[in-house]
Amino acid sequence: MSSEFRIRGKQVIDEIADYYENLASIKPMATVEPGYLYKLLSHEVPETGESLNAIQKDIKEKIMPGMTHWQSPNFYAWFPSNTSFPAMLGDMYCGMFSIVEFNWLPVVMDALGKLIGLPERFMAIQEDGFEGDGGGVIQGGASEAMMVAMIAAREMATEKLKAQGVVEDEIVALRNSLIAYCSDQTHSAAQKAANLIGCQINVIQTASDFRLTKELLADAIAKDKQKGLIPFYVCATFGTTNTTAIDDLPGIADVAEAEGLWNHIDGAYAGAALACPEFQPLAKGIERCDSFNFNPHKWMLCNHSCCAMWVADSTHLVNAMAIQREYLPKVKKDKGFVKDYRDWQLPLGRPFRAMKLWFVLRMFGAEGIRKHIRKDVDNAKWLSEELVSDGRFELVVPVVFGLVVFRLKPSALPTHLQGSAEVENAANAAIANEINTDGRAFLLGTKLHGRDAIRVAVGSAASTRENVSELLGIIKDKTSVVLANLES
Ligand code: PLP
Repeated sequence: MSSEFRIRGKQVIDEIADYYENLASIKPMATVEPGYLYKLLSHEVPETGESLNAIQKDIKEKIMPGMTHWQSPNFYAWFPSNTSFPAMLGDMYCGMFSIVEFNWLPVVMDALGKLIGLPERFMAIQEDGFEGDGGGVIQGGASEAMMVAMIAAREMATEKLKAQGVVEDEIVALRNSLIAYCSDQTHSAAQKAANLIGCQINVIQTASDFRLTKELLADAIAKDKQKGLIPFYVCATFGTTNTTAIDDLPGIADVAEAEGLWNHIDGAYAGAALACPEFQPLAKGIERCDSFNFNPHKWMLCNHSCCAMWVADSTHLVNAMAIQREYLPKVKKDKGFVKDYRDWQLPLGRPFRAMKLWFVLRMFGAEGIRKHIRKDVDNAKWLSEELVSDGRFELVVPVVFGLVVFRLKPSALPTHLQGSAEVENAANAAIANEINTDGRAFLLGTKLHGRDAIRVAVGSAASTRENVSELLGIIKDKTSVVLANLES
């Protein structure tokens, strides 16, 4: 059995290495019909086990032709979903031990928290050895982190009502009046979390900078309180999905502290940039939040699923989640490195995800991680400057991280079509569509306050200046095609 594993394991490693060596030449986006795979693969469990060779053949011939290759250096859609050889090696050890992790989380999460400049209150073990109430946990994704934070917030609000002398029956009724806050640029996961836990959410309309500000939040809260609602949670974002806007974190902290709201910050994508000291001032205000998450599985070279989440004080989280049964040994204290992580998340058991993260942190080191982030930011900035100097494009927002959001300048349209928002939108959508139909690169169009724009997320681990330069050429050529079609 183990001798067979040795042979097959090496074969799989070779397949992986071959895939990465050839990835740049594979089209990032497949053109298959939904359900194509259902027609190609058997829907029955084989009665007897099949050989690895037969499975590998199916992967190569049937599965890969229909895949979207997120690791391709020519993939620029959504946000990156990085993996790396260290993460894959770490994942093999996760599979090898297949345990529920306990002691590992404080080690890895404190190290990661320090790397991104989180203050002491988020560490399980603080500098002087003090075992804090805070710490980090790995959730499956940012959506889970945002929901878990909302659950802790609801618990905090409930405890506050109890402290005010409100009786249990009334608390149940008052829970229907709880209202959370986010912006129209916050990831849909915030609204989903509110739907799932059954509370209201006020999705605040942002201005032209796409940011949730102190004034917008304070105004929304004042109006909701007049309606008898009870504000309890705000989700701010460090790097929104559409434009990587950074909400007014200090202003939001002011309001959250004044109103007694749980202040969660979602940095799913941009949080990785905090590994570089030059980005840390952009997150000013983070030190005052109650919880924060970012996804190493987006831009920090660690494969899915790996969302790092920290809370400054786990009391409300644990109070909301802790349920005792005879088959669940009770951890005596919930501080420092002794924590019952089942009370920090939805699932009881959890995969040994800290192991792969540990591999990434150790094998790349801070220097390697920073190099990866800075490479992407440099390439994104270079692309944005080239687009602007072309003369036909304008940036929708300045480039801060690895995302370039641009659109055709209205003046670049044929004179007789200028002034029509409909034509402007259609032209931008057509450029994105032409690029994706060509197939050498894959990116996304988006709509920002009703106006179409094109989004390029530079962030594949393998992406180089050469790749981005090739993309620039494609964008220019396809724009010429769209403009010529409009002219004729
Ligand atoms: N927050 C932001 C800013 C995101 O961009 C995303 C996904 O792209 C999410 C949250 C949701 O992340 P997850 O897929 O880990 O739930």
